[in-house]
Amino acid sequence: MSQQFQHDVLVIGSGAAGLSLALNLPAHLRVAVLSKGELANGSTFWAQGGVAAVLDDTDTVQSHVEDTLNAGGGLCHEDAVRFTVEHSREAIEWLIEQGVPFTRDEQANGDDSGFEFHLTREGGHSHRRIIHAADATGAAIFTALLEQARRRPNIELLEQRVAVDLITERRLGLNGQRCLGAYVLDRNSGEVDTFGARFTVLATGGAAKVYLYTSNPDGACGDGIAMAWRAGCRVANLEFNQFHPTCLYHPQAKSFLITEALRGEGALLRLPNGERFMPRFDEREELAPRDIVARAIDHEMKRLGIDCVYLDITHKPAEFIKTHFPTVYERCLGFGIDITRQPIPVVPAAHYTCGGVMVDEQGHTDVPGLYAIGETSFTGLHGANRMASNSLLECFVYGRAAAADIIAQLQQIGMPSTLPCWDASQVTDSDEDVIIAHNWDELRRFMWDYVGIVRTSKRLQRAAHRVRMLLDEIDEFYSNYKVSRDLIELRNLALVAELMIRSAMQRKESRGLHYTLDYPQPLSDARDTVLDPTVSRH
Ligand SMILES: Cc1cc2nc3c(=O)[nH]c(=O)nc-3n(C[C@H](O)[C@H](O)[C@H](O)COP(=O)(O)OP(=O)(O)OC[C@H]3O[C@@H](n4cnc5c(N)ncnc54)[C@H](O)[C@@H]3O)c2cc1C
Repeated sequence: MSQQFQHDVLVIGSGAAGLSLALNLPAHLRVAVLSKGELANGSTFWAQGGVAAVLDDTDTVQSHVEDTLNAGGGLCHEDAVRFTVEHSREAIEWLIEQGVPFTRDEQANGDDSGFEFHLTREGGHSHRRIIHAADATGAAIFTALLEQARRRPNIELLEQRVAVDLITERRLGLNGQRCLGAYVLDRNSGEVDTFGARFTVLATGGAAKVYLYTSNPDGACGDGIAMAWRAGCRVANLEFNQFHPTCLYHPQAKSFLITEALRGEGALLRLPNGERFMPRFDEREELAPRDIVARAIDHEMKRLGIDCVYLDITHKPAEFIKTHFPTVYERCLGFGIDITRQPIPVVPAAHYTCGGVMVDEQGHTDVPGLYAIGETSFTGLHGANRMASNSLLECFVYGRAAAADIIAQLQQIGMPSTLPCWDASQVTDSDEDVIIAHNWDELRRFMWDYVGIVRTSKRLQRAAHRVRMLLDEIDEFYSNYKVSRDLIELRNLALVAELMIRSAMQRKESRGLHYTLDYPQPLSDARDTVLDPTVSRH
């Protein structure tokens, strides 16, 4: 039997964004935080480097703003960048209050300000401003926030609940546009329950799983973007997908990043015949910026029709490798690759979704009562290329801002009345799950081949044709069979893929992470790609 629930705030997603929002709400509100798998399943847990913030006395808001604008290829919204950076210090102070064990170092920052945490530097940042917990910052943050949430009786943490679609007044044929909650599959019972809420928050993470190779965990399927689009929200800049150049290529290694520090210490990229290729692409060779290295690898893989290239550090002493890269060494050895003697097979992997659901500074989407925060949103912060460690910061700043906005509106918004149950009367159990598995593979492969790091108009047209066929097939399947997590994710992934392809086709230039051989130069006028479902074909 499906069930009806009512909460003041329904938060879909238990990562950095969702937990920050929930913890910033007052204790008298009933809050549900959903995760479609275990609570730790999002990208947050896997973040390594840290969080960018202006913390050092020698650093300034202006400098962080300028660095972000420089990385963003002319497309950052300066007001969103300034808003985020201006709130960075208080976001970090809040995290420290929550008990996040950031790495301490009283001397390392070279000042006498009394600031006791170690700050590191990353690509694009002109100052040391990355606060971190060793090389496992995401796990440290997630663990601390989860512990706090578990102590709060008003916060219900619900695992294995997959939001299927939002419930809006428009969907129910009522007057008005407001979001009233969501239909949610309970994976334990197999039933779709109805969650009514005064406020609904999408904190569902990114969509990098749309590509064959990704550094992201399995759930990064763009569910929030797809649900928001179906509910009538505009989305923006979905053509900008950030790729990490070196992810381990091995059938059993799902998403293991090989740190850039290896190249920093002299590792060389080679073709299967041992030939180096980076000198042909950039005078900085293996130390060129991330997008250039990823593009060069992609070019060689496509030119030669090879599955991977190789990262070779065997010329360094074995002892040096083992002490500098113990995690990479152990992990690769586990897959039968001794990196002191063998080159590492690597491919670039989709890493971060810069575009998403359009929101303002409080996380409002186009649908009243519906917020989007974290990687699923488009705030204007990242522009055409995300600067390292700005993404977690965005989760905290906007999570807290959206919570404040909800608090300010509490008086005006009541609980929705009883909502209609999910109608499963027309569907049966699927006897052809092979279709889901097949379509899933096909989609991710053609997105990789045709909408990946280097694009052409012809490849994008091919992808557009294929995704339309898949969408038709998936829609038919969805109308006839009971929903499952795989089907829900495939349906969302295919929709988000289509939105990415359309966005990429609209951009007649190369800018930031969008590179097309047909328009290799940027246009003089930098504009966002905004798609509006109210004027769309779907
Ligand atoms: C390997 C790796 C390293 C990274 N390193 C850094 C770094 O050092 N610094 C930095 O700033 N950024 C880093 N990033 C990016 C950063 O981690 C993410 O952008 C950020 O964690 C996103 O947080 P989020 O809360 O938006 O989403 P996530 O943490 O991805 O959480 C999404 C949540 O939504 C839930 N969900 C999704 N769909 C549904 C649905 N339909 N129903 C119910 N629940 C759903 C998931 O179960 C999950 O709980 C890294 C990313 C990766 C993958």
